[in-house]
Amino acid sequence: MSTGMNTSQRILLGAAAVVAVVGIGAVAYGAANDPVVTAAAPTPVVEATPAADAVPTAATVEGLSGSQAEGLVFMREEEKLARDVYLTLADMWGVPVFTNIAAAEQTHMDSVLGLIDAYELEDPVGDSDIGVFANPELQAMYDDVVEMGSESLEAAFGVGALIEEVDIEDLADYLQEPIPADVAMVYERLLSGSENHLRSFVAQLESAGSDYTPSVLDSDTYGSILSSQGQRGGHGAGNGAGQNGHNA
Ligand code: ZN
Ligand code: ZN
Repeated sequence: MSTGMNTSQRILLGAAAVVAVVGIGAVAYGAANDPVVTAAAPTPVVEATPAADAVPTAATVEGLSGSQAEGLVFMREEEKLARDVYLTLADMWGVPVFTNIAAAEQTHMDSVLGLIDAYELEDPVGDSDIGVFANPELQAMYDDVVEMGSESLEAAFGVGALIEEVDIEDLADYLQEPIPADVAMVYERLLSGSENHLRSFVAQLESAGSDYTPSVLDSDTYGSILSSQGQRGGHGAGNGAGQNGHNA
């Protein structure tokens, strides 16, 4: 649960920044959320007692700690968050980049489901509808960012970039811990995809004449992602609608 909370804080911080950057102004966003925004987001998640909060089945899973199992369950829904937000924004704005990247997020969800099945964890997604989440933090995030993304097309691109930043940060955190090779392989692939997606959304913003300022990633990390061309060898999905010729 700590990871979810942490992510929520990050996305709320980021959301405020997107509002500022994109200039969508007084979205009914600030007031309700300010108590949550106070903590310093990048502080390392403390996971000192893996047994305490473990997913019930985790104890019986060979090769996964409780926090690793929790991480998989969380990432499954975080990828769904990305997919569902992009599908919704695609409906709203009719812009191909959202449809394309939503398809990539579906493959990310499927990859994590493969691990959830392999480790015999309970899938939090099942056949739940678009925009419906088991994790209340992710539910709140979905509701908030969709509202933000409805303000303008630029705000919608900003929401996309923000979601990818959060995804990158969470995956990088998980990859810093010792994890089984099959989990690491999937996380690496998701990370590569997220970097592609971040570049795509930023390119869309720049085409529209807006800058994007990272609100989750530090500027070095952000800069190196923006200046690379996906040499991690990711899916490539999401670059299709990107624009060339813009400064990173
Ligand atoms: Zn993804
Ligand atoms: Zn993505």
